[in-house]
Amino acid sequence: MLEVVRIPVLSDNYVWLAHDAASGETAVIDPAVAEPVLAAAEARGWRIGQILNTHWHPDHVGGNLAIVAATGAKVTGPAGEAARIPGLDRSVDDGDTVAIGANIGRVLNVAGHTAGHIAYAFDDAGVLFPGDTLFALGCGRLFEGTPDQMHDALARLMALPDATQVYCAHEYTQSNARFAVTVEPDNADLLARVIAIDVARAAGQATVPFTIGEERATNPFVRAGSVAEFARRRAAKDNFRG
Ligand code: ZN
Ligand code: FE
Repeated sequence: MLEVVRIPVLSDNYVWLAHDAASGETAVIDPAVAEPVLAAAEARGWRIGQILNTHWHPDHVGGNLAIVAATGAKVTGPAGEAARIPGLDRSVDDGDTVAIGANIGRVLNVAGHTAGHIAYAFDDAGVLFPGDTLFALGCGRLFEGTPDQMHDALARLMALPDATQVYCAHEYTQSNARFAVTVEPDNADLLARVIAIDVARAAGQATVPFTIGEERATNPFVRAGSVAEFARRRAAKDNFRG
C-alpha cells in the first residue's frame, strides 16, 4: 500500500510524496522545490528517504539538493540524463526497479518529452508516476524526442491496468480538454469527463490523479491510430489557442 500526497507548487506543478505505512519509508517524486515538500513531510511526521526523478527539467529536480541537505535522501534518476540530475546517487533505466518499503516500482523508459525520460510503475499498489509523459487528456511536448518515441511511450503506459492511478506532474487538464473536444467532438465519454473537469476546477479541486482507463477512453494522444496521426495531433496541440 502506498499513500500518495499531493503538493501543489509553482504555477501548475504537482510534487508527490509516496509513503509506505508498514515500513515508514517515504519518497518524493519530482521535487520542483524543497520547502513545501519538507513542510508537508514534517506535518505528517514522515522522513523523506529518497527522491525519484523522471527527467532533468528544473521544475522536476529543482528541490533535489536542498532536500538532500535537509534529510540525507538518496536520489534516483534517469540514466540517460544522469549528468543533469542534481545530487544523483543511482541511475536507472528500463527494467530496473526501485522500492518504497515493500512496494516495488518498475522503471519504464518513456523517452519523448526528454531524451532519457523514465516513469515509475508500482504495479501492486496500482500507482504510476509518469512525470511529463502522460497528462490527463494530454501528453508532454516533444522537446528532445520524436513522435515515434512518444507514441511508443504512451502505448507502454496504456498497457497498465485500467484501474492504475496516474500521478502526473502538472495540472494541465482544462487546457488539454479544450483541445481534446476539437479532436473527438462526438466522444460521449470525453464530453462527460470535460464537464466533470470543469466542475472540479471551478471548485478549486485537482483533476490528478486519474486512471489509465479514463485516458484509454478519452485522451486523443493515446487514442491516435498511428504514429502519423499522433504526430499531427501533437503538432496541432502545440499551435492550439483555445
Ligand atoms: Zn518537463
Ligand atoms: Fe514539467
